[in-house]
Amino acid sequence: MVSDPTNGSVTCAWCAAQFKRSGLKTPMSHGICLACMAAGAGSPIEDLSQVRPELLDALPFGAIQLSGEGIITAYNRAESVLSGLSPASVIGKNFFSQVAPCTAVKDFHGTFQALRSKGQDGSANLLFVFKYSGGAKLVEVAIVYHAAADTATLLVKVALSEPNL
Ligand SMILES: [Zn+2]
Repeated sequence: MVSDPTNGSVTCAWCAAQFKRSGLKTPMSHGICLACMAAGAGSPIEDLSQVRPELLDALPFGAIQLSGEGIITAYNRAESVLSGLSPASVIGKNFFSQVAPCTAVKDFHGTFQALRSKGQDGSANLLFVFKYSGGAKLVEVAIVYHAAADTATLLVKVALSEPNL
């Protein structure tokens, strides 16, 4: 068997593990491997750009879908618990300027724009102090850009919860 390294595998947005995909059209994608999913999840996510809202809600970490301009199109349950904001109150708003202005800095929004400006699928991982209403948290963030749809997914895991940060 000849294997093609550019096709047939998905890169996990959290841990960079490669796993097998089945019948997706795009040549490269970013997903979530089974090890990074919630315990009890039946299958990995192969394409983050096309995840049903119910599956986003099942993730054990925050997940936010954005348009290329930064408008929030989906906001999962875990992120809602972290931020104290209901999905209904943030969907349709600009994440960087209206919902989380602490992210409108080079480290975060700048990284997002740099990914988007390349015009191809890509991802970046960063550590960021996120100022939630209940206190600051050090979070691990994965920014995944989906070129074909000009959309992005933000994944947010709490690394350290520290009210005095
Ligand atoms: Zn993983």
